[in-house]
Order: sequence, then C-alpha cells, then structure tokens
Amino acid sequence: MRKFEDSYQHKGLRKKLVDQLRSKGISDEQVLQAMNNIPRHYFLDSAFDKIAYEDRAFPISEGQTISQPYTVAYQTQLLQVKPNEKVLEIGTGSVYQATVLAEMGARVYTIERQKKLFDLTKQFVLRNQYPNIKFFYGDGYEGLPTFAPFDKVIITAAAPFIPPKLVEQLKPGGKMVIPVDEDHHQRMLRITKNEDGSISEEAFDNFSFVPMLSGRNG
Ligand code: SAH
Repeated sequence: MRKFEDSYQHKGLRKKLVDQLRSKGISDEQVLQAMNNIPRHYFLDSAFDKIAYEDRAFPISEGQTISQPYTVAYQTQLLQVKPNEKVLEIGTGSVYQATVLAEMGARVYTIERQKKLFDLTKQFVLRNQYPNIKFFYGDGYEGLPTFAPFDKVIITAAAPFIPPKLVEQLKPGGKMVIPVDEDHHQRMLRITKNEDGSISEEAFDNFSFVPMLSGRNG
C-alpha cells in the first residue's frame, strides 16, 4: 500500500507553483487558495512525487493525462464557481480538477468514459474528505439528465463541437467552459445560457487537450 504524506517540502513546492500561476495571470484568489490546499502529488504515480509541482501535464493510466496546473486554474477561474453550485465535469481522469472544484465548495458531478479510470476513483485517497464529489461512469456527450440542471459545466477534454445535451442541462444564467477544436489546438470558450435559452460565446486562449471521445469504453 502506498503511504501518502504531505510534507513541508511538498507544501513549499506547492506554494511556489501557486506563485507561478499568479505571475502567469491567474488572479482569482479562491482558485489559487484551493490549489494551494490540495496535494497534487496524491493524484500522480509515486514516481512523479518530486516533480508533481512543476507546471506541466503528466500521464495517468489509459493514455490519459492530468491537466497542467495552469490549465486547471485557467478553466476554474473562467467558470466563476460559487459555494454550493452544482457543477458537471466531463472527464474525471485523475480527479484533480474535480477536487479543486469541491475544495471551492461546489457540488461536483463528474463523468468518466474509461471504465478503468472510473474504477480507480473508488480507491481515490481523498474520497472521504470530499463527499461533495459524485462519480459517474458514462459518456460525457449525454451529460447527466437525471441530475440536471447544473449551474456550471466544465469539459476537460478536446471537444469537436459544443455538445447540445450539455447546453440543455445548463440552468438559465449558467456557464460552460469548454476547449473546442480548431486546427491543431483547442480554443477555450465560455458559453453563457441566457434567460431566453439562447447562448452567448466568449473566446479565450488556445490549449491542448486529449480528445473527448464518444461512447463508453469498458
Ligand atoms: N479532469 C481531468 C483531466 C483528464 S484528461 C484531471 O483533472 O485529471 C480527460 C479525461 O476525459 C480522460 O480521462 C478521458 O478518458 C475523459 N473523456 C474523454 N471523452 C470523454 C467523454 N465523452 N465522457 C467522459 N469522459 C471523457
């Protein structure tokens, strides 16, 4: 059994990472605080223990990745999460992004299409500390109609288009943050669902994500 420990060294490296995120333009103190509180090395293989606080993505199992801290901070900042909001996340992966949202007080519903990654979340070391994260095995394109509507939706994989069912499952006034494919990268978009059901779109920087695939993989 792996022994998890959050040492002074880890905490120091984490503080440095948060300072770096601030200097790269992340200004939402709530987001920075949440990331300062969460031991990112718990979400990675123990081989990455010493480098877990570098601002880069790392491989997890099934050819997937834990997003770069800057990307997590960027998406979370755009989402403007408030305590108690219902947030749907597509792409559970390592659970790191979901934990940042939960640490900020959101009620998180997260979907993963890879059975093996979904099964690994059952052993997620912080699972009992974050009862406000609910895990689902399924296809993110379908969302979670039973639990809709959501205040916010965040997609953490490269989407070829804006999935219509996810827009449907947003509350009026709700927001979605989604990286949408352009030529060789994704453009980060923030969609706002207006009170009349129409949507407004804001475009931000370019990023690079693993693809949002359809159907479940078991
Ligand atoms: N949020 C994750 C990032 C993981 S990478 C983290 O913090 O670690 C993106 C994840 O999206 C992968 O695990 C991939 O399997 C998953 N994914 C891709 N397409 C999906 C879909 N249609 N529905 C649900 N999950 C999907």
